[in-house]
Amino acid sequence: MKEFDYIIIGGGCAGLSLAYELEVHEKLNDKTLAIIEPRQEYKKDKTWSFWKVMPHNFDDCVKKNWENFSINIPGKTNYLECKNYPYQSIDSGLFYKKINNKLKENKNISFFKDITEINSRNSFIFNSVPEIKKNHLNLWQHFCGVEIETKKNFFDEEIFNLMDFDCEQRESVHFFYTLPYSKNRALIETTWLSKMNDNSQKDYDKQIKEYVENHLKIKDYEITYKEEGAIPLFYPSNKKEKNKINIGTAGGMTRLSTGYTFLNIQEHSKYIRENIENIYNLKRFEISKKYQFLDDIFLRVLNKNPEKMSNIFFNMFNTSPKTVIKFLSNKSNFYEDLKIILQMPKLTFIKAIFY
Ligand SMILES: Cc1cc2nc3c(=O)[nH]c(=O)nc-3n(C[C@H](O)[C@H](O)[C@H](O)COP(=O)(O)OP(=O)(O)OC[C@H]3O[C@@H](n4cnc5c(N)ncnc54)[C@H](O)[C@@H]3O)c2cc1C
Repeated sequence: MKEFDYIIIGGGCAGLSLAYELEVHEKLNDKTLAIIEPRQEYKKDKTWSFWKVMPHNFDDCVKKNWENFSINIPGKTNYLECKNYPYQSIDSGLFYKKINNKLKENKNISFFKDITEINSRNSFIFNSVPEIKKNHLNLWQHFCGVEIETKKNFFDEEIFNLMDFDCEQRESVHFFYTLPYSKNRALIETTWLSKMNDNSQKDYDKQIKEYVENHLKIKDYEITYKEEGAIPLFYPSNKKEKNKINIGTAGGMTRLSTGYTFLNIQEHSKYIRENIENIYNLKRFEISKKYQFLDDIFLRVLNKNPEKMSNIFFNMFNTSPKTVIKFLSNKSNFYEDLKIILQMPKLTFIKAIFY
């Protein structure tokens, strides 16, 4: 069976981002790479959005940029600007196509459906398949989104809605998220932060229909695309091994308080590419301990006080949007962290640390 210098297990966001980063920086001219991916075909299955706090390789896959956003709770809306860090939405279909076209040009890169098709004994492995142990206490961000097209112009495409808490909470944390791509097209997502052990929260189609028709009052529309997912708000239990680096969700690239992962994956890919010659002795890349600590407290508060979370998220944006965006994107300094912490209800957070 054939051997390779490197193996990437999982040709999804992290696997393909890493392969692309290595390829465009000519790290695969004299090294071989096998990508193991079971899917039969690549098609658009996710929309990756984030505030652009750093450059990345996929500006040409961006569907839309926004410089304004809103967040609301019943009776109150906060309109905010993000000119310094525009919010970007990446079409996974364009992303897969761009990367696969590039990788096909290099004969040193091969694709397989299953790892048993090759000899992996002497290769260095980058693994993006998470090991998720079932635990009823774990929190998830689970959601379903649909892209709709309306007959009449309805949306203001200059401003997206990050969180709309003016909806049923069902003793949990629930909000809608709307990305208007044009005046008559938008992605509308129903999102829950919960332990996912209550199946009644998963009547996503009904929730979206109710929101679109009764809340937004759009009657004449067509659903053109649908995506569904669940992001673990805990670290998967993939083992650390000498000849293996876990990447993507498996590698702890999700920011646990928000679910944002895409840009962390890009940063990790760059780190691996810069150090690929020394890969066996590489220090593990991780989201800074500061954010791991703060997110742990945040999720404990969320677990104990779901009813307080809409106000907590809303009030976080009472400080400058630039500060909040930097904090949520792991780019804040000590002074900015402090500004965020000061917006939080002190007693609730102190209790969460000690109990
Ligand atoms: C619907 C959805 C929307 C999201 N939106 C955002 C967002 O807006 N912003 C953001 O920052 N993050 C978002 N995320 C979170 C995160 O960015 C994505 O989950 C991202 O795809 C994670 O990349 P990954 O490579 O770790 O996992 P994946 O992209 O899921 O890739 C894993 C790959 O492994 C393959 N695979 C599975 N089993 C095996 C096996 N046994 N052997 C080999 N390969 C295998 C899969 O087919 C898949 O291609 C979203 C997640 C989902 C599910």
